[in-house]
Amino acid sequence: MKEVWVFIEQERGIIHPVSFELLGIAKKLALALSGKVAGVLLGYQVELLVEEIFSYGADRVYLIEHEVLLYYRHIPYVKGVSELAKKYQPEILLLGATPLGRDLAGGVATQLETGLTADVTELTIDKETGHLLMTRPAYGGNIMATIVCSQHRPQMATVRPRIFSIPEREPLHRGELIREQIEFKEEEAKVKRLDFIPKEKMVNLEYAEVIVAGGKGVGGKEGFGLLQEIANELGGEVGASRLAVEAGWISYDHQVGQTGKTVRPKVYMAFGISGTIQHRAGMQNSDYIIAVNTDPQAPIFKIADLGIIGDWKKIAQALLRALKRERGFYE
Ligand SMILES: Cc1cc2nc3c(=O)[nH]c(=O)nc-3n(C[C@H](O)[C@H](O)[C@H](O)COP(=O)(O)OP(=O)(O)OC[C@H]3O[C@@H](n4cnc5c(N)ncnc54)[C@H](O)[C@@H]3O)c2cc1C
Repeated sequence: MKEVWVFIEQERGIIHPVSFELLGIAKKLALALSGKVAGVLLGYQVELLVEEIFSYGADRVYLIEHEVLLYYRHIPYVKGVSELAKKYQPEILLLGATPLGRDLAGGVATQLETGLTADVTELTIDKETGHLLMTRPAYGGNIMATIVCSQHRPQMATVRPRIFSIPEREPLHRGELIREQIEFKEEEAKVKRLDFIPKEKMVNLEYAEVIVAGGKGVGGKEGFGLLQEIANELGGEVGASRLAVEAGWISYDHQVGQTGKTVRPKVYMAFGISGTIQHRAGMQNSDYIIAVNTDPQAPIFKIADLGIIGDWKKIAQALLRALKRERGFYE
């Protein structure tokens, strides 16, 4: 029975949502292969997460618990996942293209002497050969390349958060739990975490429910201050086009698009963004798109649910006033 594995990324007992997204696509791939979906969970005292992994569609969970795995470190995690893969021979292994997933994937692929496709945006099974077709932007995003790993197993890929949606949770779905014992030694880990200092405020674009984004049309840094105020009122985040980032008006971690982040908010507001294909690639799966642009021909209007032709600043200021009035704040 062929198995499609998903590395379950957890930190301090919280599963990264990208792992659920991957369980969803893994199910589709497993169906095409008449195979099964398995989650791979490493950590210390993390068994309570297993039910959650089953409820997102895993038929099996491989669990390794050890004190050395309390927090992520490259060497022990690579060893754990590689040894599991050598023993159980999965057909496919998927990981999130997060900093942790990217670090782990390279090490595991090297240990298993197999190929790894990074930052995949599409995954399907070739009906004739049964190989995994892994599609990703190539040559600076100018073409989409489909990569096949025909000679080695597992076929490995990392996938950016928000490329696939989280499947419906089935709270009663259960599977088989396989516990593995692997010997780890603290001194083999080579690094030690001395302290953990969370960032005060991280940009959480991928999982924001509301994004207020600006482009070249916003005209400067100050414009992004106004957009930030609207985002604060709505409990959302600020996004940006690449040109706004390149102009130095806002940092790269706000960039949406092919070479930025992929987002799926409930509401995406695009102020002064033309809506080129590279920008749309990152936001076209938003539930509701509001576009404000002076140019009625701007391509963003083709995908907008609500289009407003006009100067972004006037509309943004009016929106901010209305939002403040809504919560009883009068200027
Ligand atoms: C390989 C590659 C990867 C790329 N990756 C990305 C990516 O990840 N993300 C991304 O965004 N881009 C990306 N780009 C760049 C992309 O092609 C566009 O150049 C960019 O998205 C345009 O940004 P923009 O819409 O802010 O600017 P413009 O295209 O210049 O559009 C500005 C818009 O503002 C409108 N406007 C002007 N004044 C006002 C006003 N007062 N009120 C309202 N509207 C106004 C204009 O009518 C215009 O439509 C990539 C390009 C390449 C080649």
